Amino acid sequence: MTKKHEGSPPVQKNDLVEVVIEDLTHEGHGVAKVNGYPLFIPNSLPGEKIEAKVVKTTKNYGFGRLLEWHEKSPDRVTPPCYIYDRCGGCQLQHLDYDAQLKAKQKQVKDVLTRIGKLPDVSVHPTLGMEDPWRYRNKSQVPVGTRDGSIIAGFYAKRSHEIVDMEECIISGHVSDQVVQLVKEKANQLGIQPYDEIRHKGILRHVLIRYGRTSGEVMVVFVTRTNELPHANELVDMLKENITSLTSVVHNVNNQKTNVIMGNKTTVLWGREVIYDSIDDIQFAISARSFYQVNPVQTEVLYKKALEYAQLTGEETVVDAYCGIGTISLFLAQKAKKVYGVEIVEQAIEDAKKNAELNGIKNAEFKAGPAEVVIPKWHDQGIKADVIVVDPPRKGCDEALLSTIIEMKPKRVVYVSCNPGTLARDLRVLEDGGFRTVEVQPVDMFPQTSHVECVSLIELK
Ligand code: SAH
Repeated sequence: MTKKHEGSPPVQKNDLVEVVIEDLTHEGHGVAKVNGYPLFIPNSLPGEKIEAKVVKTTKNYGFGRLLEWHEKSPDRVTPPCYIYDRCGGCQLQHLDYDAQLKAKQKQVKDVLTRIGKLPDVSVHPTLGMEDPWRYRNKSQVPVGTRDGSIIAGFYAKRSHEIVDMEECIISGHVSDQVVQLVKEKANQLGIQPYDEIRHKGILRHVLIRYGRTSGEVMVVFVTRTNELPHANELVDMLKENITSLTSVVHNVNNQKTNVIMGNKTTVLWGREVIYDSIDDIQFAISARSFYQVNPVQTEVLYKKALEYAQLTGEETVVDAYCGIGTISLFLAQKAKKVYGVEIVEQAIEDAKKNAELNGIKNAEFKAGPAEVVIPKWHDQGIKADVIVVDPPRKGCDEALLSTIIEMKPKRVVYVSCNPGTLARDLRVLEDGGFRTVEVQPVDMFPQTSHVECVSLIELK
């Protein structure tokens, strides 16, 4: 291990340094050390020898800009996307896919050691995709303006400046098609794009969702105003051009916020939901439901969660943070009873409908914070053999972890989209009498630096 830096930074702004990249951050930046002082350098890769210019220093770390390579990584590849250098959507397209999978495994291992103090837990090789492109079933594309014309694309890195795009090669083809059509038509009809700074204008986002197994397509227009001008023309244009169009929805978001959708949703044409299946289970997905964005890998993830749950048909399972009941229904096939809890009421309505849709009778759903509902279940005498958690990035609430420790299930299966909070929570469970058996990273987000994991934890 390199020694930790102490005292004032050994480099200053505008210094030129020659460094070797040692690591990759969770944002996909290379890390070099100058006398133990970390410098984060975008676009550099582990093993590379580079010349960099220091652009910013703080007490504990600094940032550099890559000027020149003295030695390139054998894992460096040419990013296939034509706007990769500007768009903030992907971070790892310049790294060979196998190396991406290894980097994600290493990141999880490092964070479990550093934050979780769990150096001995086995972290398996990341389960990757055979074809790690065009995997996303959902695109939420901001709309803006440049030189008087409507543009649409994702935000540039660390900014809210829209990078206009013709295609996004991690999204489905249909999403490219819809974005281009909407741009053209909105320009023709003179629909004002939303202006984030002045909180003026109309069209904020176009959202496209499709069901991988059904082929069904949903398009959502998000506007600041209650009205979507020329709604009929937009719908007709989509009907003419998108053969598998199933649903066109209008959502109103009049708040000054980064949250994409608002509370008011109306169907302009077709159904309110589209369908998709994962393995044998069918799900109805509405505009605002949380649904995993990589359906191929979702199946891999959920199958791993099911394997870790080790169900025989006799178990009572609690699924915390259950969304529209995806994992709950997956597990219900092999369990005696599943209790799902989720904070968004609409998602719980969807979960109940999804149970019905699949004829599943042994799953019960409750809306509310997991950290409030599960302690109540515990007080009511519900005994869980297995508890599954799949929290948002901030991890599990402390009160929930304490309840899990009190409930003493035989196993906990922890699905996580943030290795940092996973490691923190695993430490709490370890100290509360559990043992982390193994961690399986699953690549849900190829070409980006996001890492998803499923972990098996047993009562000691
Ligand atoms: N297991 C689901 C959803 C996981 S995403 C799936 O795989 O599809 C995390 C979910 O946690 C979101 O649906 C979010 O609304 C919900 N959530 C966030 N905070 C919560 C809390 N305190 N209690 C219960 N659910 C919460």
